[in-house]
Amino acid sequence: MNIHEYQAKQLLAQYGVAVSVEIPCKSLEEVRPAAEKILAGGSSKVVVKSQIHAGGRGKGTFKSGFQGGVKIAANADEAVSFAKQMLGQVLVTKQTGADGRKVQTLLLAAAAKIKKEFYLAVLLDRATSRPIVMVSTEGGMDIEEVAEKTPEKIVKETIDPAVGMMPYQARKLAAALGLKGDLIAAGAKLILGVYKTAWECDTAMVEINPLCLVENADGKESLMALDGKISLDDNALYRHKNIQEMRDLNEEAPLEIEASKFSLNYIKLDGSIACLVNGAGLAMATMDIIQHFGGNPANFLDVGGGATKEQVTAAFKIILQDPNVKGILVNIFGGIMDCNVIATGIVAAVKETGLKLPLVVRLEGNNVAAGKKTLAESGLTLITGDSMADAAQKVVKAVGK
Ligand code: ADP
Ligand code: MG
Repeated sequence: MNIHEYQAKQLLAQYGVAVSVEIPCKSLEEVRPAAEKILAGGSSKVVVKSQIHAGGRGKGTFKSGFQGGVKIAANADEAVSFAKQMLGQVLVTKQTGADGRKVQTLLLAAAAKIKKEFYLAVLLDRATSRPIVMVSTEGGMDIEEVAEKTPEKIVKETIDPAVGMMPYQARKLAAALGLKGDLIAAGAKLILGVYKTAWECDTAMVEINPLCLVENADGKESLMALDGKISLDDNALYRHKNIQEMRDLNEEAPLEIEASKFSLNYIKLDGSIACLVNGAGLAMATMDIIQHFGGNPANFLDVGGGATKEQVTAAFKIILQDPNVKGILVNIFGGIMDCNVIATGIVAAVKETGLKLPLVVRLEGNNVAAGKKTLAESGLTLITGDSMADAAQKVVKAVGK
């Protein structure tokens, strides 16, 4: 699950990470009072920030033609006028794809006086199976670009999860950012706070871009997270009621929301062949083999190892709501899964939805004989596949590709 910048910063702030004074606004009416409050608090300017689950907002363009999803306003009037151009409008950034995302929340933040922008992230490194904390002096930029062109500007520390991040590691990273004097200790404290957020909230990723060296009103310098992106590990969400409440359904595809209600792993794709598979690995392999024989998968769908008849029926209904679907491939290898449960689910779903599209079924494994019998006796017109390759070829042919 992903959360918005303002929510990420709320979590970070709980772990002592400095963020700017900010107020989220869901409607235009809230913008002026929020801007006035921030300006009254001593900030000379206020930043109006579009909240969507994608980065690159600053350099993004609205479909209306309005440039920039992050704008600095000199006064409340200007903040309101920016807000009018953003709220309810579709913002296209490097990360949204051409469709863009509709902005439904704004974040009004005190504008910081930025002296330098850095990059900071906590990720999981698959190679070492450990968290890594990564910093770069090249903040505010695309980190992929930095990694490609100047990889030496990215400095990493691998964390032993049994002991957690050690203060010396944080100091090393702070020094790598070129911080001097008291700012090394302040930087290390902030980095440890970000690591603690990542660890305790069970995040898959925390990214702060930019982490800024800012000049305060008294002329002193300090460090502050001016952007925050957090992705959470869905498997650990049950431990975090407060974070579950941050879910924003506006940011998720409607069919994927429906699928999640039935604990189905569904991801919509652009092709015409829907797949219903048990197990993520087999689902990936099924998508590959469809492509191999010249077709295009319409989705990734893993019904899991122990799917019930209700889940299979729900899965069918979900894949059929995609208007691009021209044929369906059911590929089940019953290990824990009872093939007859799948077969019963298929029959129920086909009858309930009045399916007219070609349906190819490949069943193998646990209780397969009963499953095949259920299908045979159902009177449904379906095509059976003897192997994965056979089934894939048949469905590709059936959809006419
Ligand atoms: P995105 O990464 O989606 O473009 P950011 O939150 O990083 O959005 O904002 C883009 C840029 O806007 C930042 O790199 C920073 O230069 C500037 N910015 C963002 N928030 C503030 C703020 N509170 N004060 C001053 N400048 C800001
Ligand atoms: Mg950013």
